[in-house]
Amino acid sequence: MGKIRKLPQELINLIAAGEVVERPASVLKELLENSIDAESARITVNITDYGKGLIEVIDDGIGMNEDDAILAFEQHATSKIQKSEDLENIVTLGFRGEALASISSVAQRVDLETKTDKGESIHINIENSKLTKSTSTKVDRGTKISIYNIFENVPARKKFLKSDNTELKYLINTFLEIALVNLNIHFEIYHNSKLQYRLTKANNIKDRMFEIWGNTANNFYAPRIVETDLCKIELVLEKPENAKKNTNIQYIYVNGRKVDSKVISMAAKEAYQGFIHKDLKPSYIILIHIDPRLVDVNVHPRKLEVRFLDPQGIFRTVFSTIRKSLELNTKDELKKALEINNDFKNHTYKSESDNFISSLNQKSNLKGQDFTYPTIKPKFSKVQDAISFNKALFEPTTNGNEAPEISSVQESIKEEPLKITQFFNTYIVYEREDELIFIDQHAAAEKITFEKLLYSLGSVKTKPLLIPTVIDLKPHEKEIILNKKNDLEELGIVIEDFGGTSIQLVEIPEFAQNINVQDYLHEIINNKDDFSFLSREYADIKISNELYDLLALTACHGSIRAGQKLSESEMLNIINGLKTLKQPNNCPHGRPTSWKISKNQIEKNFKRAF
Ligand code: ADP
Ligand code: MG
Repeated sequence: MGKIRKLPQELINLIAAGEVVERPASVLKELLENSIDAESARITVNITDYGKGLIEVIDDGIGMNEDDAILAFEQHATSKIQKSEDLENIVTLGFRGEALASISSVAQRVDLETKTDKGESIHINIENSKLTKSTSTKVDRGTKISIYNIFENVPARKKFLKSDNTELKYLINTFLEIALVNLNIHFEIYHNSKLQYRLTKANNIKDRMFEIWGNTANNFYAPRIVETDLCKIELVLEKPENAKKNTNIQYIYVNGRKVDSKVISMAAKEAYQGFIHKDLKPSYIILIHIDPRLVDVNVHPRKLEVRFLDPQGIFRTVFSTIRKSLELNTKDELKKALEINNDFKNHTYKSESDNFISSLNQKSNLKGQDFTYPTIKPKFSKVQDAISFNKALFEPTTNGNEAPEISSVQESIKEEPLKITQFFNTYIVYEREDELIFIDQHAAAEKITFEKLLYSLGSVKTKPLLIPTVIDLKPHEKEIILNKKNDLEELGIVIEDFGGTSIQLVEIPEFAQNINVQDYLHEIINNKDDFSFLSREYADIKISNELYDLLALTACHGSIRAGQKLSESEMLNIINGLKTLKQPNNCPHGRPTSWKISKNQIEKNFKRAF
């Protein structure tokens, strides 16, 4: 080990920057927080090249005078606290005075133009750590800060950035997370000069949710505000019947700052227990307003965590507030459901959707109530339509692949089954020699579609649509879809830019005539592709994770669903289809396609055998 040396200031800045400025989205977060702390009423964000080119925030806040504008870029220079006691009473989003110093040390160039109410307009430029100042032509009060080519000179960090689309998603999410709760600020965000979101001032959070998520906001109950001795809680809770397996709307804010809080998320999870199936996750927005002296925000470099002085108190308060809200709201829903039931007496309803299952689970907790549920419209209008989708897939492969290996499942389904039945419109069951075989019809059909698609990548038979479908998207959604244009084409899905924020669908695979394109495209957009740079091996083929996900998604949307009644020949098609697969044991998401139980095991259960 060598001699100890004091690091030069530039290097110190870089090291500190590593903690604060992890990716373009962290730059945006810091800049937006500064604009909010500066009491802005209007904030505009301009991004180019997924944040790698420019990240610019323009506000109409209090601005800075000349001395402050220069000082702002020094490490630990802040106007927000002065002495150590102030740390216990933080009411602003920033307080460490680190962000601008860190950002300017990892960007190739920074421009700041700022003006206070009365003062002159100032322009600061920083390039290669050299600061120059001049006068600016800015006439209105406020600050415009432009960060160019972030990480251009920091290859170590640049290397860890994810795909362009993912970084853009992070940027947009960061923007939305902040905009969601700052209702009296008008926000706009542009990417490559295209408007992504315009959020006008809102009266309540539900209005802003509608602006951001559209009709998804209907999945939530009306906001509720409850005041306790400890804190004020504002809740926007998802209706239990809308809960899904995955959600990214679990937002927790403490005094306006979005944070990860185990205490609060655990309390919410517990509170939803019994209202939703245990495998589902509720969406929610929880805002806690608490005396700043009762919470420490100075525990994480990026201010993502907080420490409560009384965590148990917070847990109890959040838990019981959510619980009570859900009880009150579901009681109302139950009343409505019973009214519906009177109209539909003596009918049995079938449904295929997960929603339905969740509503069953949820409602079965409401003891002593015996009623049926309105049907949920299936994805395919006719079962026959769904079958025809799959039919083309059951034809033998023609591309000369080697005979598949025989796996345990194939062993079991080698021979034509004798008796074959469908249970719960979801499982195919049959007897073979000394075994009972169970097949999950969706998992199996999905896997068959998946392999067929995989082995005919690039040569999927397509059919032009008589009337192309035009689909309206949000601008960043359109960008994500257009970036996948080539991959989609490999799968036989041909899309074209239709101008504005629309795309049009012109060709789809021959066997996919009934795919619900809207749902399908939206799922592609929301698919997390964080590991898209990795590749996967499937049997003898190597494909990128991104393409694998796309294939899995297409297979899922284009295959027979759970909950569909099948005829015997349709069941046989699935069984025969499974036989041709290279890897028949699991669906593309990893769930088993089938399992079996031996006669011997059954006899053991009945104590006929030991
Ligand atoms: P912090 O926000 O923790 O104080 P920053 O490095 O983010 O540290 O900012 C340093 C200082 O620059 C702030 O304390 C504030 O006085 C000033 N500042 C930064 N951005 C703005 C802005 N948009 N409007 C007015 N003042 C700003
Ligand atoms: Mg700041």
